[in-house]
Amino acid sequence: MRVGQGFDAHQLVADRLLVIGGVEIAFDRGLEGHSDGDVLLHAVADALLGALGEGDLGRHFPPSDESLAGIDSRIILGRVVELMRERGYTLANLDATVIAQVPRLSPHQAQMSRNLAETLGAPASRINLKVTSTDHLGAIGREEGIAALAIVLLETL
Ligand SMILES: [Zn+2]
Repeated sequence: MRVGQGFDAHQLVADRLLVIGGVEIAFDRGLEGHSDGDVLLHAVADALLGALGEGDLGRHFPPSDESLAGIDSRIILGRVVELMRERGYTLANLDATVIAQVPRLSPHQAQMSRNLAETLGAPASRINLKVTSTDHLGAIGREEGIAALAIVLLETL
């Protein structure tokens, strides 16, 4: 078995679609980033790469790669999942947390979980998704951005 952790954070900026966990969320700002800025999927992908001993997302999907501009992060995560399978591993479980003061994410939590299960090719029972705020503390509490944490355990097929 192998364990990996991932962390990601993006700024909230005007004139961007807000996409978290593959869900488009109606809000007046979105997450800045080279891809669609999906902070949750990036944290999960980084956790998987960490568990595989494969560095980080920036190494596999460099911001200098123009083909990745605006890309749906489910495609990025899907490629990492392919790498995991090639290496002979399957997901034992994922535990992830999205940290956002705004907007309220709980109405979207179930759909985010379903999207994660689908992209990871894993049963829903292996995926746990939490959403929380910082109770107005710090940069996230000031509504400047959104962060996500993820831990995965992989087991051999
Ligand atoms: Zn990111």
